[in-house]
Amino acid sequence: MKKQLIAGNWKMNGSVTANEALVKALVAGSAQAACHVAVCVPAPYLAQVQGLVAGSVIAVGAQDVSQHESGAFTGEVSAGMLKDFGTRYCLVGHSERRQHHGETDAVVAIKAQRALAAGITPVVCVGETLAEREAGRTEEVVKRQLAAVIHTNGHCISEIVLAYEPVWAIGTGKTATPEEAQQVHAVLRAQLRAATDHAERVLIVYGGSMNAANANQLLSQPDIDGGLVGGASLKAADFLSIIAAAH
Ligand code: PEP
Repeated sequence: MKKQLIAGNWKMNGSVTANEALVKALVAGSAQAACHVAVCVPAPYLAQVQGLVAGSVIAVGAQDVSQHESGAFTGEVSAGMLKDFGTRYCLVGHSERRQHHGETDAVVAIKAQRALAAGITPVVCVGETLAEREAGRTEEVVKRQLAAVIHTNGHCISEIVLAYEPVWAIGTGKTATPEEAQQVHAVLRAQLRAATDHAERVLIVYGGSMNAANANQLLSQPDIDGGLVGGASLKAADFLSIIAAAH
């Protein structure tokens, strides 16, 4: 059976002092983890956190990557630069980037391609807004978002991690029920099957107010292969409980 992935998304939180305390607690508590574990940290802390997790089961991830390879793009961070700091995963297309930075499906697809070319696993986020869910458009939206990434990345699509993150569940305390999440994950799995012979090995993780109390049920669904965890990843005890619920 493939190992699940529990990835924390710190968003724009942290400090040198706070990171040290959090990561030391995570390293101490995750030695026996049965799943893959990662923390996606703000870019300035990649080197610090890389040092703190050395020799542990925890991998380091970034939260975004430039769609460009190099050049006059002030403020951007390239995939090659992330790789220089031992970055193993990179979120792409998080709904906060789609919403606040105007990232389109096409841009997200190119970012995934940049990450893959640098040897970084992109964690491609898809998900519908509340209005889209209420209009019965959930499947159409997530399929459109994934289709762009499949179109640009071809057979490499089996190398990505896919994260289903309903926008209405992110940071709101509202979680999709395990059945609601499983239904969308099954749709995404079917779409991957049509694109690659290796769809079964793609990890499709769920994100949206996952916490210590609801992780177990979500992670028991057949097509839920892990979690992308925001708020609860900033508290060592909570994040460790979620890791313990995964296999
Ligand atoms: C996220 O930011 O990817 C996320 C899932 O956040 P939260 O767990 O806080 O809803």
